[in-house]
Amino acid sequence: MKEEIQRAEKLKTLGEVAASIAHEIRNPLTVVQGFLQLMSATIVEGKNRSYLQFALDEIARAEAIINDYLNFSKPKLTKYEKFSLSDLIESITTLLMPLASYKGIHFDSRVEEQIYMHTDRAQLQQALVNVIKNAVEASMEKSLVQIKLELKGNHAQLKIIDKGKGMTREEIKRIGTLFYTTKESGTGLGTSVAVRIIEAMKGSIIYESEKGKGTVCTISLPLVSDESNRKDNHSYKQLEEL
Ligand code: ADP
Ligand code: MG
Repeated sequence: MKEEIQRAEKLKTLGEVAASIAHEIRNPLTVVQGFLQLMSATIVEGKNRSYLQFALDEIARAEAIINDYLNFSKPKLTKYEKFSLSDLIESITTLLMPLASYKGIHFDSRVEEQIYMHTDRAQLQQALVNVIKNAVEASMEKSLVQIKLELKGNHAQLKIIDKGKGMTREEIKRIGTLFYTTKESGTGLGTSVAVRIIEAMKGSIIYESEKGKGTVCTISLPLVSDESNRKDNHSYKQLEEL
């Protein structure tokens, strides 16, 4: 047990170091990207043109990974807005449609209730994309990924259910640990980022899984932001005092 705690601490520090390196690397990458773009504007066709495109695509990939690292180290909830969670789920399933239909996977996201949230929409989208993408990647061909949305008091409860490869008890323990991946070209960033974002929103995320059977990920999110919560608590206190 003690060993496990120490390992977690080590990984946390490693994550922090990785994040600061990622930050430093982003600047020179942007410069290289800029020059490559300048070059691709003058080279219209031929082999060099496709070499340039490869280079630009790979820089874009590196940038996406770096953004995930940075998001891990400090998930920023900056742009608070009111939005429908059902609409957000719908746009995420549309976004992931190409990935899903490639494996013949369908989403079943019949969401009956309109649930409104007040938080950073873009951050929540990123967290949910990461979780739902994993469900698709774990799924067998032609299977179903279910997304259920329910109102539970002052929380929205989301369940992402897949009938995929599932996880052992040990594997579940490691999920959300930075760099933990079982995929050939995985980064082990997706769930770590999702966990950090959901925690920043004062929500919770729980994985239940059975090897070979599938996985259920339950995400619970408070409907209102911190600010509104504070106001609520305040008026509640006043009522108590009366
Ligand atoms: P990556 O997807 O790059 O591997 P993640 O952090 O998103 O990194 O996921 C870490 C690991 O957790 C995955 O490699 C996989 O082994 C496991 N995992 C996550 N979600 C699921 C799921 N729905 N079913 C089975 N395994 C999962
Ligand atoms: Mg992933």
